[in-house]
Amino acid sequence: MTLDAPEEQKQEQPQPQQLQLQDQKPHKEEMKGDVAKTADPNGDVILELSRPDETRVHIRVSSKVLSMASPVFAAMFGSEFKEGLSNHRSSSADGGGAYVVPLPDDDAEAFVAICNVIHFRSDEVPHKPSIVCLQNIAFIADKYDCTKALTAQTAQWLRSWIDAPRPVEWRKLLFVAYVMDTADAFSRISWEILRTQIGPMLSPSELAGHELIHHNLLAEFRVRKSEIDMDVLKSVDGPITRLLGSNCGIGSSSVWRYCRELYGRGMWPLTERLQRMDLVTIFAVLMTFPEMKSDVCGYTRCNFCRGLDFQGELRNMRDRIMNERRGLCLDCVKTEGKSRIEHACRIRHQ
Ligand SMILES: [Zn+2]
Ligand SMILES: [Zn+2]
Repeated sequence: MTLDAPEEQKQEQPQPQQLQLQDQKPHKEEMKGDVAKTADPNGDVILELSRPDETRVHIRVSSKVLSMASPVFAAMFGSEFKEGLSNHRSSSADGGGAYVVPLPDDDAEAFVAICNVIHFRSDEVPHKPSIVCLQNIAFIADKYDCTKALTAQTAQWLRSWIDAPRPVEWRKLLFVAYVMDTADAFSRISWEILRTQIGPMLSPSELAGHELIHHNLLAEFRVRKSEIDMDVLKSVDGPITRLLGSNCGIGSSSVWRYCRELYGRGMWPLTERLQRMDLVTIFAVLMTFPEMKSDVCGYTRCNFCRGLDFQGELRNMRDRIMNERRGLCLDCVKTEGKSRIEHACRIRHQ
């Protein structure tokens, strides 16, 4: 599973000035299968988008609305553009004299969704676009520099996938959350990746090799994964470490049984298990641990044997780690931790 761009989006991204006039082509005749949509009934521009089957989607939009959402469109719809394109006015009956702007490189489904969001056409906005469509939306939003206008809607779209029945292509969703700058979704998705990750984190190509990812996500994941692993290790080793600081003979035989139980479940040595199992499986196995009552030794000042509750300790540790959901903070990732120092992170740190 990689973060490859969909085929149609792999071409180099045009800069604003490149978009101004040189992409324009004469308006082609209507073809069978072409679709006409409306984001603004009084819009002055018709965007011409291509679908994978080579049919086209025309969507009537407002150049003013597009310009407010995107500085790239603002540059594109400058006065020079309108003067230069006067010969491209639509002659079709539904064109109504609007400017026709061909955008052959942009995915039609994703572009139409974006247009409907920024024109407040909530009745036309898809509830749960496909993951490929969300990736295309991220590519287009980055290309036209309009992620801010779409952040709230993207958060909602990502939630529809995060809350969906599993399994989900988490790494693709993480890419969308990163590009669209949705901090809450990024944290939740990165936690799903961490808790279901088997062994060490991923090869670089999967989380660090994409052209739109400008930070070393792989390194961030590795640090967080080792922090969580260390927490699990400390909790499971806790009774053994505490025993070494006491002289309790009764307690030592209980700890011996505890080690045997760990060994019998294939959980010893745990460092090795953490390299080969995901957290969900490790917790599931640890939760099969029997309740182990310990006798109490004769020393009134012995705190070791009185406090032994192996099963309870493991359960508390599992609950704490799972409830904390320590995914990555997108603001910390993008500012190399500065936002946390300045208390400017959009997610709450534990
Ligand atoms: Zn004792
Ligand atoms: Zn942060």
